[in-house]
Amino acid sequence: MFLACEPASRMRWRGRELERGVAAGRMGLSVRAVFFDLDNTLIDTAQASRKAMLEVIKLLQSKYHYYKEEAEIICDKVQVKLSKECFHPSNICITDIRTSHWEEAIQETKGGTANRKLAEECYFLWKSTRLQHMTIAEDVKAMLTELRKEVYLLLLTNGDRQTQREKIEACACQSYFDAIVVGGEQKEEKPAPSIFYYCCNLLGVQPGDCVMVGDTLETDIQGGLNARLKATVWVNKNGVVPQKSSPMPHYIVSSVLELPAILQSIDCKVSMSASST
Ligand SMILES: [Mg+2]
Repeated sequence: MFLACEPASRMRWRGRELERGVAAGRMGLSVRAVFFDLDNTLIDTAQASRKAMLEVIKLLQSKYHYYKEEAEIICDKVQVKLSKECFHPSNICITDIRTSHWEEAIQETKGGTANRKLAEECYFLWKSTRLQHMTIAEDVKAMLTELRKEVYLLLLTNGDRQTQREKIEACACQSYFDAIVVGGEQKEEKPAPSIFYYCCNLLGVQPGDCVMVGDTLETDIQGGLNARLKATVWVNKNGVVPQKSSPMPHYIVSSVLELPAILQSIDCKVSMSASST
């Protein structure tokens, strides 16, 4: 785990907290920590997945002489199976589960007996290609570096431990955060308030000091609302129109790069209301 809990690390943290507190006080900031979602917020997971599927289609066509349409159907089926994945963190092996997705999709499309070896080849090509494309853009890195001079930054991502840790490693984002929390390593994931309280405790801040930023209304935004964070910021890259019943974020942005302006506006509101009383 990135956040070590040994005393030396805690002492270093306290020092940083003091520094950060002084900086926040000097600048009149009311937000002390920002929690970032990973997938489709800081990295373009959807695009990486699409590129990975294209590589598998090429493999099935060139090496195994599948028709393009067959290969596409297989990939579509795997995509559906991935979206329906439901597991309990303690009793899964994600490699087995996802290899089985490919095995079933191939058998459902081509018939015949199950081909575990081919399924493994497809899975590992998909996985390695996807990880290669999981990068944080330079302008996002620069934004994180600047923000971290003023507030704590924490990465809060749902999902299976192994899968998420591999993504974190692939995009080399550890050095941009004060702490990293993976839902699959906790008792509950977003939107449960407990994981947000755990994050607050790690940083020594209160929920009312924190802002959650993410692309998923049901987990990131609902979770931030459940835990009564200061604000939630929904990253709506594709201009999705939410359903009426969806949780209502405090702010909506089309790019995570709009976040510094949002934080400034939150702090302006706080100082204006303080001066008017
Ligand atoms: Mg996400």
